[in-house]
Amino acid sequence: MELIDSKDDVLLVEKLKESELRYRRLFESAKDGILILDFETGNIVDANPFIVKMIDFPLAEILGKKLWEIGLFSNKEQSEEAVVELKTNGYIRFEDMPIPQRDGKITEVEFVSNVYLVNNIKVIQCNIRDITERRHLEKKQEIIAKILTILGSQNNGMQLITEILTEIKSFTKVEAVAIRLIENDDYPYFVSIGFPEDFIKKENQLISQTEKGGIIYDNAGCPCLECMCGAVITGKTDSSQPFFTPGGSFYSNNTTELIASFLEKESIIVTRNNCNNAGYKSVALIPLYSGKEIIGLLQLNDKLPQRFTIEMIEFFEKIGKTIGIAFNRMQNESKIRESKKILRDQNVEYANLNKEYAVLNEELSESLNRIQNINEELKSAKEKAEESDKLKSAFLANMSHEIRTPMNAILGFSGFLLQPGLPKEKLDNFVQIINASSQQLMSIISDIIDISKIESGQITIETELVDINVLLSELFVTYKKLVELKKLSLVYNGEWPNELIQIISDGNRIKQVLCNLLNNAIKFTKEGSIEFGYKISDNFIEFYVKDTGIGISRENHALIFNRFRQVETSNSRLYGGNGLGLSISKALVEKLGGNLAINSDLGKGSTFSFTIPYIKSKIVEDSKVAPIKTFQPNWKNKTILLVEDEANNHAFTEEMLMVTKVNLVHAWDGKEATEQIIKHPEISLVLMDIKMPVMDGYEALKFIKQLRPNLPVIAQTAFALSHDRKKALDAGFDDYLAKPIDRELFMDMMDNYLSKVIVS
Ligand code: ADP
Repeated sequence: MELIDSKDDVLLVEKLKESELRYRRLFESAKDGILILDFETGNIVDANPFIVKMIDFPLAEILGKKLWEIGLFSNKEQSEEAVVELKTNGYIRFEDMPIPQRDGKITEVEFVSNVYLVNNIKVIQCNIRDITERRHLEKKQEIIAKILTILGSQNNGMQLITEILTEIKSFTKVEAVAIRLIENDDYPYFVSIGFPEDFIKKENQLISQTEKGGIIYDNAGCPCLECMCGAVITGKTDSSQPFFTPGGSFYSNNTTELIASFLEKESIIVTRNNCNNAGYKSVALIPLYSGKEIIGLLQLNDKLPQRFTIEMIEFFEKIGKTIGIAFNRMQNESKIRESKKILRDQNVEYANLNKEYAVLNEELSESLNRIQNINEELKSAKEKAEESDKLKSAFLANMSHEIRTPMNAILGFSGFLLQPGLPKEKLDNFVQIINASSQQLMSIISDIIDISKIESGQITIETELVDINVLLSELFVTYKKLVELKKLSLVYNGEWPNELIQIISDGNRIKQVLCNLLNNAIKFTKEGSIEFGYKISDNFIEFYVKDTGIGISRENHALIFNRFRQVETSNSRLYGGNGLGLSISKALVEKLGGNLAINSDLGKGSTFSFTIPYIKSKIVEDSKVAPIKTFQPNWKNKTILLVEDEANNHAFTEEMLMVTKVNLVHAWDGKEATEQIIKHPEISLVLMDIKMPVMDGYEALKFIKQLRPNLPVIAQTAFALSHDRKKALDAGFDDYLAKPIDRELFMDMMDNYLSKVIVS
């Protein structure tokens, strides 16, 4: 202190005292905390009552301490740094300085510090203002703004709620936040942040773990879970109870105490202790309103007690209304979207279904068509089978009849031949009948063989020089007698009967067809005439056979060319026949390169005509001489082995070969044949029957071919169908002859093999 010398000085001192007093008063009564620090040491030298109260430290404990020691800075370094800055700049300011209270609460302060000269001594003054309230308001406005921004964003559903909860969590600093929604009487967590998974699971399970197997109902029968969530979400919050707010929220800052109080006092309300069990002391449940309707709740949980104030809950009740409205709108929109999507999906589904139906319909109609076709095919196959069955039976009956007729004559008349003293005339007559019947029988067998050859495509056509007029004149001579026997007249009408008309074709086949047609004409004509002949037009010769017989109705024209088909089908048949003649004739004519046609009406006679290509022979035209066959083989030095079990056939072959002077060796079965081959190395050809006792022709062939691979072996058998021929050739026979043996064919074939040099 300086000395006071004068009156003025005294006044000055008084003024100073006064000002010090005023300052002291201000210091003592200030609504901000004030600390005075020693400039040099930074130690607190004075503190006003406000700060003492704010930081809740006795003044004696504050004085002499550094700032950080009373909690104004979180550590020594920060505090010292601040003092250094202050000394340098003479001023520092911190806006958000949190000061923890003894009860754990945080006070937000604004810290301003200046350096002053007091009586020429530097001091530091720190002004500390409690801005907790202001900060809180600011934060409230901030979170409202943020929530509104989120709600206005394009996000929806879970994402939006997650963002809102994140903001709420950071604002409240509670450990866990969640939103539950009413869904079909349940209140499952829609979004949660900070809750352990098993807690969430347990909470959600609770809604289905009751005796009723569903939600727990209160005494009034309303669903309420067994916790406060149910009460809040259903709006059953009695605000006379301290833990319910007038806004319909529940909050507790110490769940343990709350449960204890319930267990003692209110046995009706059974509070669930799941939150408490999980260690949450502070629990708040705030309803989310959309208008007057509660659509869910906001849940805030923290393990620390005393986290909520009524003011905070009321703040969230307001926010809850905004969230509720927005969320409800969003739910409705999403429902509309969902139903639109369902509608779209259904439309797509219907369209797809329609497509599927269309495909199914198509498939169905296709299947129906197929079934119809199959049915038709089946029907026609059945008809064909029945028809062919009928035809076969008719054919067999006919055949039997056709074969028995000549057989009857053969057997009957050959019996008569044995009568002693039979006159020569009768004998001749009987032999003639036997011969004719044999021919008839043979022709039936030939027909069968022909039809079988035609069916297997094995019919062969010779090409030779055919003198048409000679061929027809011969037929005229043959048939004249037959026709006259029936009291009919036969007319031959060749175009140029006296010309040499020669073609290259198969004379035997032409003859066969003409015979068939003439036989039919005779058979089906009772009176009148039979005319036959030919016409030449362009490159064809057209043969015809015309009769004045019963005729054929038009509907039967096509039918009679089918095998076994006859117009007459009844048992009391007037006319014989096997129904093969016309089908064989048609096939032969076609094979010869022409066509067989019919012109007939019932009762008006018939004309059958067929064409043959008119291929003239140049050589013949020039020479005008028909070749004469003068073939007389001489096989004097050749040896043939005849293997046959039938004595008659041995005799017949021997008779036939006599003129050739060939040397004939006999064997009566396959085994004997092999022995003869060994015995007679001079044998140059084998004629082998197939069906024989001891060893059949096939077996014998194998042995012979092993012994002499190059020796020709010809099968000679009564198995005369086309497949028999194939079977024989496949087995290794060099050639095949059907019985009865055609002499000419037989001789040609023999000559063909015997003229070759056989090397064995
Ligand atoms: P088939 O004469 O052995 O019965 P075809 O095949 O030669 O066999 O003839 C078939 C059928 O055609 C005969 O059964 C007959 O009904 C009819 N037919 C053939 N030629 C005549 C004809 N000239 N006049 C009347 N009907 C005929």
